[in-house]
Amino acid sequence: MHELRLAGAKAAEIMADHLEGIAERPVWQPVPGDELAWLTGQDLPADGRPLDALLDDARAHVLPYPMGNGHPRFFGWVNSPPNPAGVVIESLTAAFNPSCAGGDHAGPHLERTVVRWLADLVGFPHPPGGGLLTSGASMATVICLATARQQAALADGWDAREEGLAGRPPMVLYVTEEGHSCLHKAAQLLGIGSRNVRTVPVDAAYRMDVAALRAMVADDLAAGLRPFCVAGSAGTVNSGAVDPLDEIADVAAEFGLWFHVDGAYGALGVLADGAAPHYAGMERADSLALDPHKWLGVPVGCGCALLRDPAAARAAFSLVPSYLVDDNAGDLGWFSEYGPEQTRPFRALKTWATMSYLGRSGIARLVNHTAWLARRLAELVEEADDFELLSPVTTSITAFRHAPGVAGEAAELDALNRAIPVAVQRRGNAFLTGTRLGGRDALRACFLHPDTTEDDLRVLLDEIRLAAKHL
Ligand SMILES: *Cc1c(COP(=O)(O)O)cnc(C)c1O
Repeated sequence: MHELRLAGAKAAEIMADHLEGIAERPVWQPVPGDELAWLTGQDLPADGRPLDALLDDARAHVLPYPMGNGHPRFFGWVNSPPNPAGVVIESLTAAFNPSCAGGDHAGPHLERTVVRWLADLVGFPHPPGGGLLTSGASMATVICLATARQQAALADGWDAREEGLAGRPPMVLYVTEEGHSCLHKAAQLLGIGSRNVRTVPVDAAYRMDVAALRAMVADDLAAGLRPFCVAGSAGTVNSGAVDPLDEIADVAAEFGLWFHVDGAYGALGVLADGAAPHYAGMERADSLALDPHKWLGVPVGCGCALLRDPAAARAAFSLVPSYLVDDNAGDLGWFSEYGPEQTRPFRALKTWATMSYLGRSGIARLVNHTAWLARRLAELVEEADDFELLSPVTTSITAFRHAPGVAGEAAELDALNRAIPVAVQRRGNAFLTGTRLGGRDALRACFLHPDTTEDDLRVLLDEIRLAAKHL
């Protein structure tokens, strides 16, 4: 263990150097050719190499080429910097190395606590066993929709796990065009089929039009289809919009649909001052997906599926072969009975560490600060005559576009805004990404970093101007 002790101390140094120096380095830079060759071309060493040399390699060839999300001027997609508590505890997770499929050891017990904390934090009901940690919200969504699918089948007197879907009326899922792609992937994977995923229209603030939802469900029922689930968003990736969850819950109740909420990014936004009314009805969902590896800053990957009725998920997944029967598993059984994963990593430790390190007040401060940055950027955008705000700000995302006086044609503005993100990224001083919003090319900035300042917002707008000028 002597080698491990020395290397551990050295790894801690490298970690601290890396995190401390981030703001002084480029947010992102392309991986140069010789480094790319090192990353992609190397052969497996014939004989083992010492830990010390591996750390040197990681420091020289890996850490200088980050995705960028550790930097306070990274505003792309929805990717946070790692919380220090999560960083430091990750190596203990590996040293401990359990499978958290289930059993009587620290991992599964701590996971129960972390899931309860997450549910409490966002005000979701939490019966014992009402959720599990996953790789991310994509997997949480698969679990929730598979549960919804099986519940719909059981309600109609058949078993989708046993029979498959063939010969049954197609099940129909309702999402808006702002709904995350993971909902579509889950529908494809679960045999629902993309043609049975309805795109419900949105209002001017990119929120689900609930009257249209009701009409679409009625039409599908009249056509002999089987509407089974509506998925609302608590924070879309494009604009941070939160759907009218309470009204969606009413429609779900009226037609007996499963109500799923995608809160992967935005569920935590309910903690921002004054935000709670936007989230009214989230607590009425049958299932809620949220991602500790987004706003909370738990190191990737950690998602969470919360379920109002844990027995429903167990009914969709439990399959216990004789070599895994555990007579001491208690009423809730094993986590592996609630989802597709058997060997499960100990995601709870880094989540417990991150949440404990921040505390409830620290989490609320982080959410408030980043939500304020998004609102402040919206103000700066509205004050400037060469920028346009494209959507109201509800969480910590600002959707906008650059519209300098000279470019007037819709197509020209689209082309300009489509080209801006990569041009900004290449300059290395800020990182943002683009999207299509309401049929237009848009820029969007997502705020998740506790150290981002108001000055960084001005840098971002100037970087966009400079990048656009040189296009
Ligand atoms: C990130 C995200 C997802 C997908 O979650 P993963 O953790 O990437 O699997 C789904 N919905 C929203 C709104 C997201 O931000």
